[in-house]
Amino acid sequence: RKAPSRKGSMHDVPKDLMKQIKELEQQFTIDTAKLHEIVAKFQFELEKGLSKEGGSIPMNPTWVIGYPSGEETGTFLALDLGGTNLRVCEVELPEEKGQYDIYQSKYRLPEELKTGTGEQLFDYIAECVKQFLIANHEGQDISELSDLHLGFTFSYPCHQDAIDHGVLQRWTKGFDIEGVEGHDVVPMFEEALERKGVPIKITALVNDTTGTLIASAYTDPTTKIGCIFGTGCNAAYMEEVGCVPKLDHMNLDPNLQIAINCEWGAFDNERVVLPRTAYDNHIDKTSPRPGQQIFEKMVAGLYLGEIFRLVLVDLHANPEVSIFEGQDISALREEYSLDASFLADIESDPWENLMETQVLFEKTLKIDTTEPERKLIRRLAELIGTRAARLSACGVAAICKMKGFTSCHVGADGSVFNKYPNFQKRGAQALREIFGWDKSVRKDPIQIVPAEDGSGVGAALIAALTMKRINAGIH
Ligand code: BGC
Ligand code: MG
Repeated sequence: RKAPSRKGSMHDVPKDLMKQIKELEQQFTIDTAKLHEIVAKFQFELEKGLSKEGGSIPMNPTWVIGYPSGEETGTFLALDLGGTNLRVCEVELPEEKGQYDIYQSKYRLPEELKTGTGEQLFDYIAECVKQFLIANHEGQDISELSDLHLGFTFSYPCHQDAIDHGVLQRWTKGFDIEGVEGHDVVPMFEEALERKGVPIKITALVNDTTGTLIASAYTDPTTKIGCIFGTGCNAAYMEEVGCVPKLDHMNLDPNLQIAINCEWGAFDNERVVLPRTAYDNHIDKTSPRPGQQIFEKMVAGLYLGEIFRLVLVDLHANPEVSIFEGQDISALREEYSLDASFLADIESDPWENLMETQVLFEKTLKIDTTEPERKLIRRLAELIGTRAARLSACGVAAICKMKGFTSCHVGADGSVFNKYPNFQKRGAQALREIFGWDKSVRKDPIQIVPAEDGSGVGAALIAALTMKRINAGIH
C-alpha cells in the first residue's frame, strides 16, 4: 500500500517515542519568525564581510571580472577538486553563443589523501591530469600541450590577490592536510605538475560557487547568484567594486563588477543566532576545525547523516526511551558512517509501513526496526532535511536583500540540491515565507534552479575570460 500522506499516521506510536518526536520537532524546527531573524543577521554579516574591518564571513573577492558575454570561444582544461571526487575536463566553447562541449574523467579521491600531506595531494591530482591528457591527446607529446589553459576549481576558502593566486584560509569539509593553510596553493600545484612533466600553468583558481555563477549566467542571463548545496555549502554573486570597502586601497573603478565568493559556511561562527542543538555542538567540537563553518555544519551534506546518527545513538542511550531494544547498535556507533543519501532514501520510502527503511536499517546497520521506530526515524530525517533547506534559503534571501534583487534565478548545484527529495521545494517554501510574496503570483520572483556545471564549464569560462583580459592587456 502506498502511503497517502508523507507523514503517515502517528496514532500507533508509543508515548515515549511520541514524546521524543515532539522534542525533536521543537529542537529542529525553524519557524517563519526565526527565518526573519536569521536573514537579518545574515545580511548584516555579509555586509560586514565586505567592510575594511571584516567579519566572520570572508566575502572573498575572486578577480572574476564581470559576466561572460556568451561569445567566449576556445578549448580549456578544467580541474575540479571537490569534497569527494576529482574531475578533469576538457571544455570546448564553440562559436555558437552559450554552447559548450565537455569531455571528462572522474577519479575517486582516496580518503587517506584528505589527512595526508600537501605534496601527496597535489602529486595525486597532477598524476590524474597527466593520465587524462595522455588518454585525450593520443599521439601528441604532453610537452606540446603547454598552450592549454587551466581553470582549477579548488572549493575551499582562499584569499586571492589575483585570479591565479590563492592562499588557503582554512580547510573545510573534513579535510585536514598539513602545511597548506596560509600558503598559496597555485605554486604548490604547479610544482607537482612540473614533477610529472606536465607543462601546464594555472590560468585561474576558481571556487565552485563562482564557477556555478558564471556557467549559469552563460546560458541563463537572469542568474544572479551561484550556490553549492553539497558536501559543503556556499554562494557567490557579482558585486560592484564600489560596494566593497575593503578594496578601496586599490583605486579600482567603482563600477567594475567582481564576483564575491561569500564563504557563507562561516556564518554565525560567533554563535548568536542559529538555533543549535547538542548534536550540532558535538559535530563542531569533534571536527578537525572546531569553531569554524558553524552554519555549514548544520546544513551541508557531509554533516546531515552524522546529525541523524547522533540523535539515534542518544535516544538509544536514554533510559526513558525504548528504541532498538536488545539490538546490537555497534554499526550505528561508527562516526560519519551515514551520508546524506541515507536520509534521502528514508525520505523517499513510499510505503505507509516504511518497509524500505526497514530494509535499509537491516542492511546498512544490522538493526531490525519496529514500525513505530521507523516513524520516528522518518520524522527525524524530515526534520534534519527541512532545517537544512530552510537555513540554506536564509543565505540566498540575505544576498538578495543586500543587493536589492527582487527577481532572479539562483543557479544551484551539489548532491544535496540534486538528490535530496524535497530540498528544493522546502527551500522555495522558506523563500516565500521570508519575502511574503503575494499568493496570487504564479511564479516565485526569486527561484533556485539547477545550475550548469560550474566546476567544469564555469572554470573553463573563467579561464577564457581571464585570457581575454590578459590578451587585451588588462590585469
Ligand atoms: C568551502 C567553499 C565551497 C563549499 C561548497 C565549503 O566547505 O569552504 O569554498 O564553495 O564548501 O563546495
Ligand atoms: Mg563540486
